[in-house]
Amino acid sequence: MTKQLQDRVALVTGASRGIGYQIAKGLAAEGAHVIAVARTVGGLEELDDEIKALGGSATLVPLDLTDMGGIDRLGGAIHERWGKLDVLVANAGLLGVLAPIGHIEAKVFDKTMTVNVNATWRLIRTTDPLLRKSDAGRAIIMSSGAAHSAKAYWSLYAATKAACEALVKSWANETENLPLRVNSVNPGATRTAMRALAMPGEDAKSLPTPREVAAKIVPLAFADVTATGKLFDVRQDRFLDYRDPA
Ligand code: NDP
Repeated sequence: MTKQLQDRVALVTGASRGIGYQIAKGLAAEGAHVIAVARTVGGLEELDDEIKALGGSATLVPLDLTDMGGIDRLGGAIHERWGKLDVLVANAGLLGVLAPIGHIEAKVFDKTMTVNVNATWRLIRTTDPLLRKSDAGRAIIMSSGAAHSAKAYWSLYAATKAACEALVKSWANETENLPLRVNSVNPGATRTAMRALAMPGEDAKSLPTPREVAAKIVPLAFADVTATGKLFDVRQDRFLDYRDPA
């Protein structure tokens, strides 16, 4: 069977566990060489073993996404080693804290903004020249229903995801005449460490697994995607227009 991403190079952040891990594995199963970014080396090595078992290949990049210089160097390093990048999956993220807006500690606010927003923009900035050159560049930026739900106590996380969606919308308009397609994704509640932190009383078994969710996201990297500047809703398995994002 023809693989959809043969000879493509894909960068995935937050690849050490959860949804990012399964997206990285799914991209590799479709033939992409995966550049896997996260801090936890053990998780990256486990991913590498699984990808090798599938007959695929990965490059592991242990990097803390608060290291802005490290992110800035990624584009140049990828250009030097592979000469191109076809897929960016900016998936890494933090919940921060669920709290009344006046009770959020400044250091928690700053760290969450740094990882969820600043790092995402720096990733976009360093990979944009490479993605523009690809004949089927695809960027997938992980958002959340929280960006639109206006729930009490979720202000910090919601603000970071709304900011990511704003970056995507403008970037899509800047690149609409290129083959590059850039979209946000709302994975929906998923059985991961982050979800357990947000909803400790919930029965995790009632939620879709990261593998099930990733199976819907991986096709957004394929060459036949035409949508750009949209929000892909995993639960609904379709792109939503920003005029009607709920
Ligand atoms: P997890 O907490 O399971 O995984 C988060 C990933 O981000 C890990 O691989 C982690 O790697 C990485 N990460 C976090 N901080 C840093 C950092 N400073 N530097 C580098 N990497 C970092 O989260 P999920 O899989 O649940 O979430 C993935 C994405 O989906 C996130 O953007 C999240 O906001 C979004 N999402 C998730 C939902 C859910 O229900 N799970 C619902 C809606 C959106 P490491 O710790 O090894 O560095």
